[in-house]
Amino acid sequence: MEKLLNVIGTSDAGCGTCHSSGCATCGPAPRVAEAPAVLSRRDLGRAVLAASAGALLSGCSPQSGATGQPPSTAAAQPTAAAGPAPPALSPDLAVVQKTKGPIITVLDEFYKMGPGPSSSHTMGPMRITYDFFQRVSKLPDDQLKRATALKVHLYGSLSATGKGHGTDRASLAGLLGKAPATCPPEFLDALAANPDEVHKVTLGPTTLSLTLKDIIFDATKGDFHHPNTMTAKLLAGNETVYELEYYSVGGGFIEWKGYKPPDKGQPKYPFSHAKDLKKFIIDDKIPLAKLLLENEMAISGKSEKQIREFLDQVADVMVRGVDTGLRVESVLPGPIKLHSKAASLQRNLKTSAKGEAGRAITQVAAYGFAMGEENARGHIIVTAPTAGSAGIIPAVLKSLRDLKVPNENIQDGFLAAAAIGYLCKHNATLSGAEGGCQAEVGVGSSMGAAMIAQALGAAPKVVSNAAESALEHHLGMTCDPVAGYVQVPCIERCAYGAVKAWTAYCIASEEIPEERRVDLDTTIAAMALTAKEMNTKYKETSEGGLAVSLVLC
Ligand code: SF4
Repeated sequence: MEKLLNVIGTSDAGCGTCHSSGCATCGPAPRVAEAPAVLSRRDLGRAVLAASAGALLSGCSPQSGATGQPPSTAAAQPTAAAGPAPPALSPDLAVVQKTKGPIITVLDEFYKMGPGPSSSHTMGPMRITYDFFQRVSKLPDDQLKRATALKVHLYGSLSATGKGHGTDRASLAGLLGKAPATCPPEFLDALAANPDEVHKVTLGPTTLSLTLKDIIFDATKGDFHHPNTMTAKLLAGNETVYELEYYSVGGGFIEWKGYKPPDKGQPKYPFSHAKDLKKFIIDDKIPLAKLLLENEMAISGKSEKQIREFLDQVADVMVRGVDTGLRVESVLPGPIKLHSKAASLQRNLKTSAKGEAGRAITQVAAYGFAMGEENARGHIIVTAPTAGSAGIIPAVLKSLRDLKVPNENIQDGFLAAAAIGYLCKHNATLSGAEGGCQAEVGVGSSMGAAMIAQALGAAPKVVSNAAESALEHHLGMTCDPVAGYVQVPCIERCAYGAVKAWTAYCIASEEIPEERRVDLDTTIAAMALTAKEMNTKYKETSEGGLAVSLVLC
């Protein structure tokens, strides 16, 4: 259900911290607004998903037009798991308008740096509480003087799986004023190691005491506006001084009740589907990287130099993470007692008798494991598109660097990867809690395939086909993290996602591009519909799949 609010806010941030124009950093705090009364929150979610899928289908693929059949006739039939048919949506709802507008997401909203292990359950909640900290810091002194406590309530998936993700310590860190992009991982480790420790936070004239107990694991089931809902409160005894309901909508993006997408510049080359990109790139002969750079400059107001420097910073964080992960061997935090594998894969590479193909695959997999394991340790990662899938693009990056691909080509590859992520975010979802693992590792692999193709100078159609192929072969993949930890199956899936990205590129670069029968828009539409119909047990609840069948001793 990320899309329902994400769609509501393909949001597009002002300050880069809040993913909005309304946080305490970049603008005034919005007033809390009520959800539309005509729909229950869950109905609204279903309706939004249906709306986004419907929007995709209306931009139907050439194949479906040729056969006279919709891409999926089954998709039109709601399953028992999906519940009753959604109500019609008012055309003035933001979600409906959003599906019609061009993509205006920018790079620093998409590639977000911060602590793992989960973009929706760690980075998002920390950004939320940091946003709340900034808001309450700016309240008038007379209100702050009365304050006695800060409390955060976690609901839905955040409550069901938050323990395993470290949602509580990430939330506490943000509430204590630690910025997600720069918070040392050691600080987070210490919060977990000393759960009863009392921490002080100063808000204007008042200093409050906080512990992990102020982060409350509340109801796991209910009529929530989003599966990842949380409320933050500033209290004066039993009285609430200030309260805001937030949503961690996937990929580290956050929204809140009454959220309105911020004002931004308009893209020079507006697109919302791959077919729009095709027109600019193939018909008008505008190179993909140039198109994306010019859009980024028009929307964000940044120069090309600033944009390329940001991409270098992203690459540096990724490479540092992989290199650390290749060195460190440890049992990862949590009850699974999972031993890390990246270092041993790397160590044994030179002596293995797997042959050239086996060694190449093992190398890419080792890179994927390395960053996935760093994520599991709660160290700094980059969402690409999420934390659970954060090992894929670094593995692709490292393997491109091994090939001595020029840095500018790698930057262009990052741009192509972002374009794929934007399309999936805009037209489907990036959230495991909304769409299963296809939305995280599937999208990450698709981005990786596009990045490889772009960096190696492939034709635009090959870039698109590679992305399509990688996504196609993740469709339907469920999210079922064992014990609620982003470890099994997540880490190994990053390795597979990176290998599949290379596989997709290798196939796409050898086939006749125009003869590929499935186009990228069609596959993204299929992902949206699959997400809509997927049983909620397989959406990051740890109530199905491996999370149930694997018995931990
Ligand atoms: S199973 Fe996939 S979607 Fe779910 S937490 Fe792991 S990486 Fe994310």
